[in-house]
Amino acid sequence: MRGLAQVPPGHLHWSLPPSEQTEVSCGGCTECCRSGQGLFLHPEQGDDVESYQVQVAADPAGGSPVFLLATKENGHCVYLGASGCTIYHRRPLLCRSFDCRKHYLILPRQDRDNLVKLGLSSRAVFNAGRSRVKTLSAAEKKDCLDKREEFFS
Ligand code: SF4
Ligand code: SF4
Repeated sequence: MRGLAQVPPGHLHWSLPPSEQTEVSCGGCTECCRSGQGLFLHPEQGDDVESYQVQVAADPAGGSPVFLLATKENGHCVYLGASGCTIYHRRPLLCRSFDCRKHYLILPRQDRDNLVKLGLSSRAVFNAGRSRVKTLSAAEKKDCLDKREEFFS
């Protein structure tokens, strides 16, 4: 069994689809930017860590440090402005590709709860994903459920 304890937060790979551009219709939602969830950078996939304000965290797997976008005291990303992302054209990979629908569908309930407790995701993001699951195609839903089986059964 492969559970969260064996998946370092910097490598929540189901959150990073092959496409670099998410197809989620956010419709003005900014929960990802406001929820304090782990906004991990992925330098191994092209994120230029030095170009962002970051927080450094220890990788629980004992490897290299991991980098997160810095947040304000209220947990909001430092780049979130009144009208949305202030660095939209250079936002990092996670922001370009995160799909809350797949994040919700792939994770079993207990693991969603654990991620919320660990501060690596938020209930609001899962709720946003759940409310948008119906916009996934049948093939995308099947792919998510296959991944759930692969990672969590
Ligand atoms: S929670 Fe979903 S809908 Fe909201 S900003 Fe994030 S990806 Fe977009
Ligand atoms: S960089 Fe922009 S899109 Fe990414 S979390 Fe911050 S405000 Fe949101």
